[in-house]
Amino acid sequence: MKLVNHSTVELIKHNASDEDVAYAAWVSNFAADAQKRDTTNIAKLIMFLYTNKHMSPFEHGSFTFFVDTPIFVGREFMRHRTFSYNETSGRYKILEPRFYMAPDERPLIQSGRIGTYTFVPGTDGQNRAKRYFTGRAYGLSWRMYRCMLRVGIAKEVARNVLPLGTMTQFYATANPRNIMQFLILRNEKQALYEIRQVAIKMEAEFAKAMPLTYAAFNEQRSTWHKIARLMELVDIDELLEDIDPDYESVVA
Ligand SMILES: Cc1cc2nc3c(=O)[nH]c(=O)nc-3n(C[C@H](O)[C@H](O)[C@H](O)COP(=O)(O)OP(=O)(O)OC[C@H]3O[C@@H](n4cnc5c(N)ncnc54)[C@H](O)[C@@H]3O)c2cc1C
Repeated sequence: MKLVNHSTVELIKHNASDEDVAYAAWVSNFAADAQKRDTTNIAKLIMFLYTNKHMSPFEHGSFTFFVDTPIFVGREFMRHRTFSYNETSGRYKILEPRFYMAPDERPLIQSGRIGTYTFVPGTDGQNRAKRYFTGRAYGLSWRMYRCMLRVGIAKEVARNVLPLGTMTQFYATANPRNIMQFLILRNEKQALYEIRQVAIKMEAEFAKAMPLTYAAFNEQRSTWHKIARLMELVDIDELLEDIDPDYESVVA
């Protein structure tokens, strides 16, 4: 049995560039001549498109990632419906005994309310407990899986005992617009630690492939973060009561 403490993300291929964004935008005015235009100074155009939410020019391209990650991260990832997926099959293939063990630097203790949870590191004792109980559970479920295969039970039934921490692999393909939507939601402090690690790796590849688009995306994102930070500092109930004194009876 192998314990893994991180996800792997590999950019398999991409067909997307800042120039493609400009060509797509220029088709409106220049039709077939769009491709002949000089793309030396497209940074401003891309910033304008992104800031003003003219998003369709960001849809002409694609990125394909290979992701090796625990099943619980895969489940969150696949909520992003605008991606195309293909995943390793537990019906056709005997799964590998590879399981995720959260590293000790992963914040372990949760406090606060839904939507504003904060996480702090565990103590040495809590980390020891995490390693011990997780390892025991993985070992037991893996043995039961193997026992069922040995007596002839089909892979698709035997796998039922395997936990959410089992590693899975998939291809995920999306256009730049939907990659950015993924990054906004998943490389964010409220996102699950493990999917954020995946998003950070995807973001690095995206930034390399489309630096001007990435700059526009990142500038907008830092504005949203500043607004979000301001909202955290404001007492929302007090603010809404100021605006409408009947606020409490409406939300009660
Ligand atoms: C911090 C966090 C907590 C979450 N908690 C939960 C939870 O508790 N339970 C849960 O079920 N999910 C949860 N989610 C998942 C979330 O609700 C989204 O399903 C997921 O993030 C995918 O986002 P998306 O729909 O924008 O992406 P995509 O599916 O890739 O869609 C991209 C965009 O395309 C458009 N689009 C796609 N499909 C449709 C459609 N059918 N109709 C209209 N427009 C569409 C939308 O504009 C959408 O933003 C959580 C996500 C985050 C980031």
